Amino acid sequence: MINKEINIIGGGCAALSLARLIRNLPNHKFNLFVGDKNKTHKDHFWGFWKVKINKEAYNNANHVWSKWSINTYDSKHILTSVKHPYCVIKRKKWLDVCRKQLESEKIKFFENDILEKDDKLYVQNKKIEGDLVFDSRPPKLPSNILLQHFEGFVVTSKEDVFDEKLVILMDFRCDQSRGMHFIYLLPFSKRKALVESTMFSKTVEKKEFYLTAISKYLKKYFNLIEFTKSDHEKGIIPMHYIFNESKYIYNIGSRGGAVRPSSGYAFTFIQKQAFQISSQLKNRKKIDTKIHNNIDLFLDKIFINVINEYPLLGPKIFSNLARTLNGDEMAKFMSGHASLLTTCKIIISMPKIPFIKSFFYVVYRK
Ligand SMILES: Cc1cc2nc3c(=O)[nH]c(=O)nc-3n(C[C@H](O)[C@H](O)[C@H](O)COP(=O)(O)OP(=O)(O)OC[C@H]3O[C@@H](n4cnc5c(N)ncnc54)[C@H](O)[C@@H]3O)c2cc1C
Repeated sequence: MINKEINIIGGGCAALSLARLIRNLPNHKFNLFVGDKNKTHKDHFWGFWKVKINKEAYNNANHVWSKWSINTYDSKHILTSVKHPYCVIKRKKWLDVCRKQLESEKIKFFENDILEKDDKLYVQNKKIEGDLVFDSRPPKLPSNILLQHFEGFVVTSKEDVFDEKLVILMDFRCDQSRGMHFIYLLPFSKRKALVESTMFSKTVEKKEFYLTAISKYLKKYFNLIEFTKSDHEKGIIPMHYIFNESKYIYNIGSRGGAVRPSSGYAFTFIQKQAFQISSQLKNRKKIDTKIHNNIDLFLDKIFINVINEYPLLGPKIFSNLARTLNGDEMAKFMSGHASLLTTCKIIISMPKIPFIKSFFYVVYRK
């Protein structure tokens, strides 16, 4: 006997990650509104550190590394974790893993876009009813906020140039004149790597800016001039806590506060949110989609304000972080599982005056 109907809006990470976990709830049926542009979404990689909550993604990961580095003009720190390696999975692969688990007569797919009017949702002029609605449509971004914006591509070289065992998580040896800027390099083999130029700033740059940064970097640090490019990737992620609250709808994913404001990482937090909701539904508890704790969000605000005011401190902040923590601690911190000791170590390692000023700014601003 079916007595509850759950509607899930969106066909991306949050919607399908949640649907796969709640698909077996007894006496429930599900409607998935994946949107009409879902099939045309460009593929890209999601990076994450292996923790319990993302085990299934780890089992399906395209690549896994147990070493990553943070480089500046003055330092190079290599962190290692066998327990919590850095992994990537392609968007389409993860969505396929989820979708394959959803083949059941209890689940109906709709490929129409949802429209919103007066806090109510409609599909083809028909109001979406049902007992619960989880919405993962992309949120509207507030203006004048710090953004993480990036562009890059997969580089293929004719010679062996990359160290396939070492991810370059952040290399700050690039143009710092327009905001905090680093190169992210994922080596898939000695000849193939995803290379991205990433900025933390309020203004998205023209394509040439990112491409020039990548070419200069590859030439200077890998002596690589001739290469082919494929799998172009780009994105803009808000470095701001976005949590849309509405009366009748539970927001999930980017619009439901899953992006960690200080890093832009969301994949693991989306998994955490999906497990949290699934457990609440199974145990008939009140639904609460919040996943970041208030202390983390407060510290993120201070950090974001420092990067906004003192972008040139970026390399120092991240090299101090990498010097202070070991690989396990960093992986857990980036996944939202930092212990109190790790949090204290990070606070102590930061440049004091900018962080104290920023603390007062965050506490006293209206
Ligand atoms: C290029 C890129 C790279 C990223 N890399 C990482 C990374 O390495 N690690 C990490 O942790 N995070 C990363 N992120 C951040 C985050 O993980 C992703 O943004 C993630 O996809 C967010 O999931 P979501 O479900 O909230 O949104 P999405 O996956 O974007 O899903 C939104 C869904 O809503 C649908 N939709 C839109 N409008 C409508 C409508 N009107 N009606 C119905 N459906 C609609 C869309 O078709 C889509 O299916 C990245 C983001 C981008 C953009």
